[in-house]
Amino acid sequence: MHSSKGIVVLGSTGSIGRQTLDVVSQHPDKLHVVGLACGTRVAEMQRQAQRFGVADTAVGAEDALRLIDLDGVDIVVNALVGSAGLRASYKTLAAGKTLALANKESLVVGGDLLMPLAQQPGRLMPIDSEHGAIYQCLLGEDAREVTRLWVTASGGPFRGMTADQLAHVTARDALAHPTWNMGPKITIDSSTLMNKGLEVIEAHHLFAMPYERIAVVVQPQSAIHSMVEFADGSVKAHLGTTDMRIPIQFALSYPERWDAPVQPLDFRTLGSLDFAAPDTDAFRCLALAREAGRTGGTMPAAMNAANEVAVDAFLHDRCAFLDIPACVAQVMEAHVPHAVESIEQLEAVDAEARRQAALFLEGQGMA
Ligand code: MG
Repeated sequence: MHSSKGIVVLGSTGSIGRQTLDVVSQHPDKLHVVGLACGTRVAEMQRQAQRFGVADTAVGAEDALRLIDLDGVDIVVNALVGSAGLRASYKTLAAGKTLALANKESLVVGGDLLMPLAQQPGRLMPIDSEHGAIYQCLLGEDAREVTRLWVTASGGPFRGMTADQLAHVTARDALAHPTWNMGPKITIDSSTLMNKGLEVIEAHHLFAMPYERIAVVVQPQSAIHSMVEFADGSVKAHLGTTDMRIPIQFALSYPERWDAPVQPLDFRTLGSLDFAAPDTDAFRCLALAREAGRTGGTMPAAMNAANEVAVDAFLHDRCAFLDIPACVAQVMEAHVPHAVESIEQLEAVDAEARRQAALFLEGQGMA
C-alpha cells in the first residue's frame, strides 16, 4: 500500500518539467502535483495546472520559493535553469523536504552550503542520468571501499572535431544533440563538455569524492550511464535506455522501483560499446570546470556564471563557440576565491562574474 507523494515542480514547462509530469501521469496513485512554477511560458503552465488539478502556481524563480512551504509538499523537483536555482535548493533542504535536483548548477555553486543539509539518505536525489546511475551502484555498498567514480559522457555533437573545426560551429549545429532530449542550456553545455565538468563537481559534492578519484570517459552509445570502481577492482555499471524519465522516476520512487513505459535495452541488438578519453585540449571547458572544482570555495560560482553568460550569448549568435571557454578562463583568472559562507556571498560572486563575462564578450566585439 503506497501513500501518494505530493510534489512541486519548479521549471514545469522545460524539458525535465514536462517529463516529470509525464512520470506523474503514469503513476496517479503514487504521485500528485501540489504546485507548479515556470519562467515565461505561463499559458503552457496553466494548461498543466488544469490537467493535474493544481491550485498553486508561480512565475519566476522568486515567486517559486513560496511553493516550497505549501502544505503537503514531500518532494521539490528543482528543474530551474542556472544558478537562479540555488535558493530553491537551499530552501527545500532547510525545510526538511526531499530535493529532486535537476538544477546541477545549484550544487556546483553552493554544494558547500547544501550538502550539510542533505546527509540523511534519500534527502537529495539527483535527476541526472550519471548521478542517478552512481547513486544506484552505491546502494548497499560501503562508501569507504569506493576507489573511483567513472562518469560517462556521450561526447556531444562535436565529438572528434579539432579546435580549428570547432571555431566555426553554430548554436544550431549544437542543438542537434544525438542522444538525450534536453533543454537549450544543457545542450550547449553538452556540446562544450562543460556539462561533464559541472557533473564532476556535482559528483564531488553528492558522493563526497575527491576530484582525483572522479574520472570522465566518453561512451558514445550512452548505454552505460556511469560506473563505480571498488577497492577489489570490481566495477559496477548502470545501463539502461537513454530516456530521462527513468532517472526522474527513480528520484521520485526511491527507495522503491516502479514500472516505466520505456523500451528496455535489448543486448542482442545493442552492438558494441565504445570507450575513449575526452579531448580536453579541444574541449577546454571540462578542464576549466575541474580546475574550478579543485580550487574550490567561490571559484566554481565564478566559473559557472561566466559559462551561463557565454552560453546565452552563443545561443543568440552573439559569440563564437570557442569564446565560451575563453570567457570562462578569463573570468576564472580574474576571480580571487574565498571560502563559501552564505548564499548572499555566492550571489554577489555570481553577479560580478556575469559583469566580467559580459565585458569580455564585448571586448571580443561580439556581445
Ligand atoms: Mg547528465
